[in-house]
Amino acid sequence: MQKALWPWNVPMIDKDLLALLACPACKGDVEEKQEKIVCLQCGRKYPIRDGIPVMLVDEAQK
Ligand SMILES: [Zn+2]
Repeated sequence: MQKALWPWNVPMIDKDLLALLACPACKGDVEEKQEKIVCLQCGRKYPIRDGIPVMLVDEAQK
C-alpha cells in the first residue's frame, strides 16, 4: 500500500500546487474537477478533504 502524507495545509488548491501533484497510481498529470483531483491519464478521482488532496490509491474512485 502506498502512503502519501501531505506535509502542509493549504486553504485551496492552486495551479502551482496542482502542477506538483501526480497520480500515485500511474504518475499521470492531474487536474482539479468538481472538488476532486482527477487523473488525466487513468481517470482515477482523488478526494479533497479540508482543502488537502488525498493522493492515495486506496482512496481513489475509478
Ligand atoms: Zn492515474
